[in-house]
Amino acid sequence: MHKRTMYAQDFPLYKQAGWTPPAQGAFPFLAFSLVLSNVVYLLETYLDLRQRKRLQATEPPPLLLSTLEQVDGGAAADATTSLRAKAVAKFNTSQEYGRAKSAFGLFSATARHLIEMALLLAGAHPYLWDAATRVVVRCGGDAAHTTKVSLVFAGLSVLLGELESLPFSLYFTFVVEARHNFNKTTPALFLADKLKSLALTAAIGAPVLSALIWIMDRGGDLLFLYLWACLFLVALAGLTIYPTLIAPLFNAYAPLPDGELRAAIEALARRVRFPLTELYVVDGSRRSAHSNAYMYGFGRNKRIVMFDTLLKQVEQPELVAILGHELGHWEMGHTLRNFAVTQVYLLAMLFGYGIATVAVGADLFASFGFASDQRPALLSLILYLTALMTPADHVIHLAMNYWSRHCEFQADEYAVKLGYAQALQTGLCKLSLENLGNMNPDPLYSAYHYSHPPLVERLSAIMQAEGRGIKKVD
Ligand SMILES: [Zn+2]
Repeated sequence: MHKRTMYAQDFPLYKQAGWTPPAQGAFPFLAFSLVLSNVVYLLETYLDLRQRKRLQATEPPPLLLSTLEQVDGGAAADATTSLRAKAVAKFNTSQEYGRAKSAFGLFSATARHLIEMALLLAGAHPYLWDAATRVVVRCGGDAAHTTKVSLVFAGLSVLLGELESLPFSLYFTFVVEARHNFNKTTPALFLADKLKSLALTAAIGAPVLSALIWIMDRGGDLLFLYLWACLFLVALAGLTIYPTLIAPLFNAYAPLPDGELRAAIEALARRVRFPLTELYVVDGSRRSAHSNAYMYGFGRNKRIVMFDTLLKQVEQPELVAILGHELGHWEMGHTLRNFAVTQVYLLAMLFGYGIATVAVGADLFASFGFASDQRPALLSLILYLTALMTPADHVIHLAMNYWSRHCEFQADEYAVKLGYAQALQTGLCKLSLENLGNMNPDPLYSAYHYSHPPLVERLSAIMQAEGRGIKKVD
């Protein structure tokens, strides 16, 4: 017997009863997915280490200082209130926060990578499936009822994933974020949030999963299209249900009271013909001191949501400028295009799945330790995603970040056209300083991870747009 067959028979350690080795010369799916996940891990660790080096610097980069000087020039600030002075004063705190997050990131990524590899090699998938079958049988169900077994299997997988990530999220929230005064959540609120999300996952996940299994069991050449249509409807429903029914379970949304700020935002909406139906302030400060703003809604029924933390961090004209940027995303159809791109990606992924189940079904199951006589639909989808799609996800993620940064520049330019160049610049600077944003990011790291361009790049682009004397809209 030569080495390849020996290897294929040894791993995963746990195999289902009735398991038979993959056919001679079959593609080694398990080994392939392990190699790819190691490649991704090494690449991301390399980027983390590059970033760590930048986080050791004790002086702000000269380009940042000269850019901030230019912003200050427009705002006529003095030596103590200038953004440049504030950035110098906050630089070390922001670097320290960056280092703490980076150390945590490196540790948790390494630990979770090792856990994931160990689970794959040990045969956690077939083990969990057999455990799910036993649960169904013990509850008086039929072991051959694959939909029931699939649902229990999915439930166990979610719980296992939760168990795996819980220590890390606890440490991040109550140690890393707390040390830098960002964490505002209490252990009780943290626990309540977790339980609520798990209950929601079960309530929404179970029917959706049952529908997907029902479709997959019917198969056919157009399987990918039916699956996509189902997920498309779920996504559409989610867009409607999430802000109105789900988000309020976690936060309080109060209409912004009448006053100068509300009048200013409504004037902006009228000016650009944005169909604003409601303006909310959400109590983000219950959990974190970080700030945000976003908008949602279909057609002529749009709402804007601002975090209460955001209102405290910037002045009114800056807030209006930031919302001008948000409306830029709407005006240029970024939200809609993002949704469309995601759906096309989903469709392509499911098309690949349709081909893979037909072409490699039995070998895929065998290489992950499953007996290949049954091949339940949910498992074939999960194995396909594990073996082939996870690496592709990283490439897509990279492309999406690039695209997102491009959209951010466009939305900034839109705010400049509205005449908010100065207020947008000071607003962005304040948000970056308040949130201890990285002032010295590594170019490769940010190209891979950042969905928003680094502060210096945004400020320079805004100045350039302003300098080009872009025609203002009115
Ligand atoms: Zn944006």
